[in-house]
Amino acid sequence: KDEGRDCHRYFTRPMDDTIKRRAIIEEELRTALVSGEGLKVFYQPQVAGAGDPMIGLEALIRWEHPTRGLITPDQFIPVAEETGLIVPLGEWVLRQACATSRRWPHLFVAVNLSPVQFRSSEFAKRVIEIVRECGADPHRIELEVTEGTLLENDEFTRGALDTLRVAGFRIALDDFGTGYSSLSYLRQYEVDKIKIDRSFTQHLGHAADEDSAAIITAIVALGHTLGLTVAAEGVETEDQWQALAAMGCDELQGYLFSRAIPEDEVADLLVTPHRV
Ligand code: C2E
Ligand code: CA
Ligand code: CA
Ligand code: CA
Repeated sequence: KDEGRDCHRYFTRPMDDTIKRRAIIEEELRTALVSGEGLKVFYQPQVAGAGDPMIGLEALIRWEHPTRGLITPDQFIPVAEETGLIVPLGEWVLRQACATSRRWPHLFVAVNLSPVQFRSSEFAKRVIEIVRECGADPHRIELEVTEGTLLENDEFTRGALDTLRVAGFRIALDDFGTGYSSLSYLRQYEVDKIKIDRSFTQHLGHAADEDSAAIITAIVALGHTLGLTVAAEGVETEDQWQALAAMGCDELQGYLFSRAIPEDEVADLLVTPHRV
């Protein structure tokens, strides 16, 4: 019996810790959202296929916790999604992105959207309203959605995406190729851009992995046939860059060009756009 109890304890403790950790993150994220302290939006440059010039910025959220240090989005976005905090958080990111867009009128600014945000029937209207309030041009704002969004609710999501496209926003399908039915989404939804997932890019240049090269070549051809812009993310090496450029990728993004940086560092990169 004692042993049984120990066993029980052994199995529940890590679980309790996870729940506790999540509760703490939720609480502190709420506070951060109210005070605006610690939350920041960084921007990762996107460059044309030739590596130059810089054409866009992807807004990526950062949370600098006063005692815990930097908390990555992978740690707190899921909590924000479970608790609904992603709605105010997403709106806050969008406002920041709009302000940035106004300062860099020749760049587009891409914003990541969570499937949870699309659950509100008012979502598209809300986005349009916020962008108008901020005085930004929807044509310079790109909205990145993942398969998770498209999975959730066909009719409803299609309506929201159509409304946003009509208002002038460009829609990019993020992490393309990782899901179960990437191809069928291209038939079901009108999008403007596909972003080939980092996992394909990163296998490029490994001599053993000719498959990734073949897959990317096919995605680029497919995308172009459908009239879409094709971007690749996670470009880390010169070899990957050369390979992607040769395959006809329109836009590139990755540590080779720059990590996500604070907005006030964007100007420096525009002077020396190739590399940090
Ligand atoms: P994502 O949208 O796929 O963003 C790309 C991620 O890859 C970013 O991580 C970026 O810093 C990282 N990355 C960029 N270039 C490279 C590279 O060359 N190599 C490698 N290994 N990584 C690279 P980050 O900023 O940690 O964001 C992770 C994820 O969190 C994002 O993935 C996105 O799904 C989510 N996220 C970030 N900001 C937001 C936001 O404002 N709203 C929502 N809903 N999700 C966000
Ligand atoms: Ca993204
Ligand atoms: Ca991505
Ligand atoms: Ca991702």
